[in-house]
Amino acid sequence: MTAPTHQSATLPQNIAFDKWADIGFTWQGDVPVTALPRLAGQVIASDDVLSVALTLARQDKILWLTYDVKAVLSVACQRCLNSMPVDVSGNYRMAILESENKIGYLEALDETADYVLLDEICPDGKKILPVEDMLEDELLLAIPLSPRHDDCDMHTDSVGDVADEPAENPFAVLEQLKGKLSG
Ligand SMILES: [Zn+2]
Repeated sequence: MTAPTHQSATLPQNIAFDKWADIGFTWQGDVPVTALPRLAGQVIASDDVLSVALTLARQDKILWLTYDVKAVLSVACQRCLNSMPVDVSGNYRMAILESENKIGYLEALDETADYVLLDEICPDGKKILPVEDMLEDELLLAIPLSPRHDDCDMHTDSVGDVADEPAENPFAVLEQLKGKLSG
């Protein structure tokens, strides 16, 4: 049995776990990066769009939440500050485990598989899967912490990274000189 693809135009923020866990849930469509504000904060081009296929489906008794993503986002190169493309396309997949049967399921999981505990993502016990936030979390992790062009024009021979701390403020020096002149 294949679950019907939900036709809503936008990615649902949440889906009810008890309603969909057994019959499965799928959604496919385009997600504007502006719908994911934390991710949009990392992106230069606000018209970037992600193509997303979301699937919640049981496989060998384990419930898998899968995001099949195709997207290239424009982020700022941390060296020259110009736009650089970051391909965040991929298959993001995690098992959703319920605490009461976590142990048995953990044994069945491949040790490289990602999993989340339902109780931890739904701390209020309402069993609502925040599928939009979970997608955003995955994509934030897919963006390098310090993105740089491989062949950045600003490339220098120095081995060290560009210092994170701002250089000494020239006006602060000026302030000191002014103090001396007037004193
Ligand atoms: Zn660059």
